[in-house]
Amino acid sequence: TTEKQTLGFQTEVRQLLDLMIHSLYSDKDIFLRELISNASDAVDKLRFEALRDESLYEGDSDLKIRVQVDKAARTITIADNGIGMTRDEVIENIGTIASSGTRRFFERLTGDEAKDARLIGQFGVGFYSAFMVADRVTLLTRRAGTASAQGVRWESAGTGDYTVETVERPERGTAVVLHVREGEDEFLDDHRLKAIIRRYSDHITLPIVMPAADGASETVNKAAALWARPRQDITELEYDEFYKHVAHDFEAPLAHIHSRVEGKQEYTALLFVPRRAPFDLFDRDRRYGVKLYVRRVFIMDDAEQLLPNYLRFVRGVIDAADLPLNVSREILQKSRDIDTIRSGATRKVLDLLAELAEKEPEKYRTFWAEFGVVLKEGVVEDAGNRERIAKLLRFQTTAESGDGVSLADYVARMVEGQDKIYYVTAESAAAARHSPHLEIFRRKGIEVLLLTDRIDEWLVTHLSEFEGHALRSVAKGDLDLKGVGRDEDGPKVAETEEPEWKALSERMAKVLGDKVKEVRVSHRLTESPACLVAGEHDLGIHLERLLKAAGQ
Ligand code: ADP
Ligand code: MG
Repeated sequence: TTEKQTLGFQTEVRQLLDLMIHSLYSDKDIFLRELISNASDAVDKLRFEALRDESLYEGDSDLKIRVQVDKAARTITIADNGIGMTRDEVIENIGTIASSGTRRFFERLTGDEAKDARLIGQFGVGFYSAFMVADRVTLLTRRAGTASAQGVRWESAGTGDYTVETVERPERGTAVVLHVREGEDEFLDDHRLKAIIRRYSDHITLPIVMPAADGASETVNKAAALWARPRQDITELEYDEFYKHVAHDFEAPLAHIHSRVEGKQEYTALLFVPRRAPFDLFDRDRRYGVKLYVRRVFIMDDAEQLLPNYLRFVRGVIDAADLPLNVSREILQKSRDIDTIRSGATRKVLDLLAELAEKEPEKYRTFWAEFGVVLKEGVVEDAGNRERIAKLLRFQTTAESGDGVSLADYVARMVEGQDKIYYVTAESAAAARHSPHLEIFRRKGIEVLLLTDRIDEWLVTHLSEFEGHALRSVAKGDLDLKGVGRDEDGPKVAETEEPEWKALSERMAKVLGDKVKEVRVSHRLTESPACLVAGEHDLGIHLERLLKAAGQ
């Protein structure tokens, strides 16, 4: 259709708009950051698609963002010559909630107006923040490469619905026109807008252009790649704002590394560890990741070849000096140069985490709570860095239920005579703690790791030892605990009594038939009469259960 349609917003969008408009939140400046961020993304997308199809530039490759105030008309216009949107894309992107930031925002809404208003400040919530300062928003757009008759005009007053119609539009890209709300006149001022841009959008690599005092135009931001500037000239605030833009996050990151690497492959990496896991961390088609640039020219988003899968939470930019500008995903997959960059960047991230663990344990705890499960995949996936990753692991143990114990801590407090690291696997820490296998360990004062994540069973099949100490399941094979830890003082089976128990165990073996391999008299139980034990080379009982549940 080309005629004008009136459509309703998705319920969540309506809720969000309501909050935007009525919230008492005072830092409204962020609307500009959000709209400029979208404009910059749109230009990045155009650049990427134009690698394949130059004609998308339509003869205009002078990419920029324009911001303009019309005092008489009471409007602010933010225009880009990026990728633009088709009518369907407008309905899809602007009428519904897809963005990761916005979804997370919803997860955290409390219903308490004051608290939720503060969330807007942290989250920003993208395009809709326009309605904090505007009582009507008009969006004009045309997708690069489509006819000028395929322009789209979208408009809404931010209440229940919006209109879309197909219009003539010669310019490629998107213009967002804010009809400034009564009482928000401070934003109808060039100086005010320039100050906001310098504060929040200085790092945007495109020129952000506004009219200058003499009527000519002026680039307001530095428009220089942040990562290409010397580290000592960059403030924490600049790093934070840059992160928010590349990660589509609204909270500052937990940590970053910024390093220039010379040698066989020259590249600059500016990588961030987020403070919070995105909702799509385990989705196959998750968005965002590390952006690839070649000599400051944007090449692609989410270049998954740049870091291993288990570091998929890392955000940022890698700028390679020696790759060809027309590099494609297919080429990246086979490129040796990328392998070099990837292993270098992986090391840098692991070093950053190790430093965090050592120097900022509070932050490391946050990191571990959010991303620990993902990092564990690295033990399975990345044999070359297995030891490095093993040092970063944290576990609950029978001695500590808090934030987790490192393997090094565990080893440091092993008891007299102990040379193995013991663990128990179960569905939950509570179940693990009740395991009868632990009785003897408790009596002997031996600490045991409680492994309760799904991935842990795989983890221990790949991590057979740590610093020379074998990892050993408490539920497998014969446990030789003689001479380890303090003497157990509870009742136990004396070796001389064993023959007396033989008849009973033979009887039990007969009754259980081929349900069990054998029935043995045990020295490990002190309270429970019996327990199940897996053979030393068998799969763990918990893993067997998981496989069975998965139909294997
Ligand atoms: P996010 O940027 O996190 O995806 P937003 O609410 O800011 O969330 O924007 C929603 C979507 O609308 C974007 O993902 C994009 O697809 C589309 N969009 C917004 N602004 C523009 C623009 N200037 N040009 C093209 N597409 C845009
Ligand atoms: Mg956005």
